[in-house]
Amino acid sequence: MTACEWQVQLVSGGRFLTDGGAMFGVVPKSLWSRTIDVDDQNRIQQDTCCLLVRGGGRVILVDTGYGGKLSEKQRAWMGAETGAPLLRSLARHGVAPTDVTDVVFSHLHYDHCGGASILPDESDVASPAFPNATHHVQALEWEIAHDDSPELKGAYPRENLTPLADVRWQFADGESDLWPGFRVVPSPGHTMGHQSIVISTERETIAYLGDLVPTSRHFPTLWCMAYDVHLLATRRSKLQLLGQAADHGWTVVLNHDPDRPTARVQRDQRKGFRIAE
Ligand SMILES: [Zn+2]
Repeated sequence: MTACEWQVQLVSGGRFLTDGGAMFGVVPKSLWSRTIDVDDQNRIQQDTCCLLVRGGGRVILVDTGYGGKLSEKQRAWMGAETGAPLLRSLARHGVAPTDVTDVVFSHLHYDHCGGASILPDESDVASPAFPNATHHVQALEWEIAHDDSPELKGAYPRENLTPLADVRWQFADGESDLWPGFRVVPSPGHTMGHQSIVISTERETIAYLGDLVPTSRHFPTLWCMAYDVHLLATRRSKLQLLGQAADHGWTVVLNHDPDRPTARVQRDQRKGFRIAE
């Protein structure tokens, strides 16, 4: 298969609300609140934008959103959509869960892998949402998610990992081509096993940056999330990936952006990077 056969579409894994302060870390609210609407509980709207990638007989998902296993209490607290948002989005594209051949995760936080498992009607035991798919992640991310280290308590809820224990997994060890024109690139910082996905199509190169650059407001090198486990690593990864995106005219996918899920990047002397004019 040649690199130019991929068809890439954005599919929502569900919208939700998050605390704005947590999304912008050390950036003062007086600055970040100028760039995005904030509600009276200090929350901002977010999407969980996933990719549907088709080509060469494969139906590939990149990330899966938060899924439909949330309790009513969780759902209300985070303003999440009802049901299984990604499955609804896929149905609109004529894709059934059993059609999916591969699921590629940027990392294993709940809002990226929760949608990979479902709670069938009248059952309290979750099962894989995409039973025919091979699931892909960095080996390091898998290890971190499963090692029960106390300092990461709560970061990787078991209800999202246990249902995937018996699916097919393929672990990447650093940068590699999963298929021609479909590359995974480690981009540590948000989690240490986080990866970005770089896809070359006939028209353009598309980089799905996961939570390395969650929204278009996070282009400045210093604008990072409070959730990042290693702030300097995030900044280094941003310099590397956004630098390549700016220099080569890539389209970047900003998975949590509520109103601008894709953008081109340009270098900015003061901030590091900004949206290309
Ligand atoms: Zn996220």
